[in-house]
Amino acid sequence: MSGIKRLMALQEEQRGVAEQIAIEAGVLKRCQFHGDVYEFDTLDKTPAYKLGNYKFTNGKLKGVFDDRTEMTDAIKAAIENAGMVCGWCAKFEAE
Ligand SMILES: [Zn+2]
Repeated sequence: MSGIKRLMALQEEQRGVAEQIAIEAGVLKRCQFHGDVYEFDTLDKTPAYKLGNYKFTNGKLKGVFDDRTEMTDAIKAAIENAGMVCGWCAKFEAE
């Protein structure tokens, strides 16, 4: 695997792990029908960072994130990229 491909695979993995952390923390929600991730109705995003830090401290994120900043950046990105609702649900409702 080339360096770039490996980097892309790692970024994809980081994105997935960050998303999962935010879901576990109740900050993001995964649509049960479409698998899309969207923002749960909460303004407080700190539980996601707290859970991420907890996992990091316990070595659960080894091999995924090298340092905490990388992890918190990924969580931030996951939250920012998530819509307010599942895009597919919104689409079907609009039709
Ligand atoms: Zn949906």
